[in-house]
Amino acid sequence: MAKNTTEVYLSLGSNMGDRMAHLSSAKEKLMNHPKINISEESKIYETEPWPQNHPEKEEGQLWFLNSVIKVKTGLNPDELLLFIQSVESDLGRTEKGHWGSREIDIDILLYGQEVIESDHLTIPHRHMTDRHFVLVPLVELSPELKDPVSGKAYKTILQSLSDKHKVIPFF
Ligand code: ADP
Ligand code: MG
Repeated sequence: MAKNTTEVYLSLGSNMGDRMAHLSSAKEKLMNHPKINISEESKIYETEPWPQNHPEKEEGQLWFLNSVIKVKTGLNPDELLLFIQSVESDLGRTEKGHWGSREIDIDILLYGQEVIESDHLTIPHRHMTDRHFVLVPLVELSPELKDPVSGKAYKTILQSLSDKHKVIPFF
């Protein structure tokens, strides 16, 4: 891997079909990219669909498997977004709306300490600080990590969330 790499956190989630297989294939496809190296992986957690009461949410959605991985990449944020979207479509993800079931969802949580706000990319990820299923694996991987905007530690943000949302170690 070239010297010019950035440390990036990605969130992976699946709640359709063989969820473990989808997470594994996504990691494999990421690892096979010449400019992406996976350096650490959290445990895999089984998590309740979020948010519980969103009006557009499908009825009876299955629970997700979620994890967070830390990668090093020479791709810039837009190139990385395009690549993760190609992995999502390779794994069969069709457009089902924001709140639907999916074979795989890959989100960029953090790209180094950069703060990015464009029409198609927001980093840090817009919803990450509301979501147990993101913060639990993120804090497991990097307990001292801080939000680049507020400077608050993610573990502190996690402690301040209400604990209604279920996130259970799976594997
Ligand atoms: P969600 O992940 O919020 O459930 P989608 O995966 O369908 O929804 O993503 C919808 C759009 O979100 C993508 O087309 C992408 O352009 C945009 N987006 C904005 N910021 C990010 C980010 N940090 N990571 C991934 N996608 C993002
Ligand atoms: Mg997404």
